[in-house]
Amino acid sequence: MPDRDPDCLFCKIVAGEIPSTRVAEDEHTVAFMDINPATRGHALVVPRRHSADLLEIGDDDLAATTAMARRVAARAKDVLGADGVNLLNCCGAAAWQTVFHFHIHVVPRYADDPLRLPWIPAPGDSDAIAATGAELAF
Ligand code: 5GP
Ligand code: ZN
Repeated sequence: MPDRDPDCLFCKIVAGEIPSTRVAEDEHTVAFMDINPATRGHALVVPRRHSADLLEIGDDDLAATTAMARRVAARAKDVLGADGVNLLNCCGAAAWQTVFHFHIHVVPRYADDPLRLPWIPAPGDSDAIAATGAELAF
C-alpha cells in the first residue's frame, strides 16, 4: 500500500492540499476539526500514511493515532470544559464510515449535550451471547 491515495480526501488534508483547521500534528498523525461537528470541539485524528480502515491500518499507525486521539481528548477537557469524551471509529459503510482513510473521531461530551446512545441497552439471551462469544473466541 503506497503512503498516499491520490483520490483520498484525508490524504489531501494531510498534504495541505485541502484546507482544514489543524489542531495538532506529529510525525505520524494529524488532528483537525470535523466540518460537521457533533458537539463543540469534534475533531478527527488520522495517520499521515493512507490506510482505508481499522482492519487495514498497521499496528504502529494505529497506536500513534490512538495516542494522538487521547491527547486531543485531554485537551478538550482542559480547554473546552468537556465533561467527557467519546472516541469513535467507523469501520465499513455498514458502520457509518464515509471517508475511507482511517480516522478516530474525538467527540467532546457535555453534560447537557443532545447526543444519545445509538442503541437501546436491553439484556440479551444468555445462551445466544455465550454461543456468539464461543464463535468469536480465539
Ligand atoms: P466517518 O463517517 O467516515 O466516520 O467520518 C468522516 C467525517 O469526516 C465526518 O464526520 C465528516 O463530517 C468529516 N468530513 C467530511 N469531509 C470533510 C472535510 O472536507 N473536512 C473535514 N474537516 N471533515 C470532513
Ligand atoms: Zn488517505
